[in-house]
Amino acid sequence: MSSAKQLLVLADAHDHYLKRCAASPINASARSGYIYGPSFLQDADALRLTTIVNNIDLLRDIDVLILTASADNGYPHTRPKALICLPAGFVSSSNDEELKETLCHEAMHVHQRQNPSLWKALCIAEGWAPVSQSNIPPRFVEKCRINPDTFYDTPFWAWDTHYVPLPMFKNGFAGKVTLGDVTIEWMDLRSNALFHAPPDSFTEKYGSPSQPEHPFEIYAVIFAAEGITTHAQLGLKLKQLTT
Ligand SMILES: [Zn+2]
Repeated sequence: MSSAKQLLVLADAHDHYLKRCAASPINASARSGYIYGPSFLQDADALRLTTIVNNIDLLRDIDVLILTASADNGYPHTRPKALICLPAGFVSSSNDEELKETLCHEAMHVHQRQNPSLWKALCIAEGWAPVSQSNIPPRFVEKCRINPDTFYDTPFWAWDTHYVPLPMFKNGFAGKVTLGDVTIEWMDLRSNALFHAPPDSFTEKYGSPSQPEHPFEIYAVIFAAEGITTHAQLGLKLKQLTT
């Protein structure tokens, strides 16, 4: 077995991501047109990527694996224990700055996997609370897109006590869906009602973030955009926000 395949087998032994997706009818359907496996880059892109990776301290001890262009709809993501998966097309279509910011974003997800208590403390200090899946009606859970970066530990969080963002497939089970056909619905824990718009308090704090589905995504986006590239900078940031 190639080492790339081996890394994916080890990752799946830890998180059972592919099995979980296969067991969810809508997640299986959304991924049915994609191939999830190791791939490679053209030499110029491989060199470009290696140069960028070697200059980012946060990527120390992280393996960056190239996947087939269609894997997870071409979305970069992470797998356990310290693996960043970049679909091949994403690398070739991104400039150096985009690649660097994406790699830092994904490095935040690896750091979250390795330091869950630090990140949960950050989320709680910033106004979030973890929510047990048993508090989300199964009819909503089964329509949520499984995100490899957030499903493994505490996939559901409430903002401002009551409001849980849910990444739900737009068409439910009707018709063909892809991983991109997702909208964030906000469930009010008091009534289990869904709202398309985020609560005002969320917009006041975050504006309109690109990935509001989970606080781990929100802070990965914010910290990468702020230019955090080293463990020292990230450690300081987490400390500042939680004390
Ligand atoms: Zn992310």
